[in-house]
Amino acid sequence: MIEKVNKSEEEWKEQLPEASFRILREGGTEAPYSGKYWDEKAEGIYYCGACHLELFDSTTKYDSGTGWPSFTALIRPELAELKTDSSHNMIRTEVNCARCGSHLGHVFPDGPNPTGMRFCINSLSLEFERGTSK
Ligand code: FE
Repeated sequence: MIEKVNKSEEEWKEQLPEASFRILREGGTEAPYSGKYWDEKAEGIYYCGACHLELFDSTTKYDSGTGWPSFTALIRPELAELKTDSSHNMIRTEVNCARCGSHLGHVFPDGPNPTGMRFCINSLSLEFERGTSK
């Protein structure tokens, strides 16, 4: 079980840069190829940009050609909560941080082996730390 972080939107607004707030707390999407991590190839861990929960290991990152950081798996499945998102006339699966509920991106069933999943995540939802691969 992951202990929840509960902050008001006012508190998040104070803590986060405006561009990150728009994605993490309002479910926005950054423009493709605009983020700082889509082409990041270093080894390390990607954390939630709001509450610093560890989410993705660089060993599962791959170039999906979409312009967003893409991963085949979470470090552990319970680190995120998945929910159906029917906005923009599409049925997609939204990926939210399991600890703070912040929006991270979406997951699609068209990824490579070994999972066949593509976690398509906003750079603005993540914080990368090099060399801490577990
Ligand atoms: Fe979080």
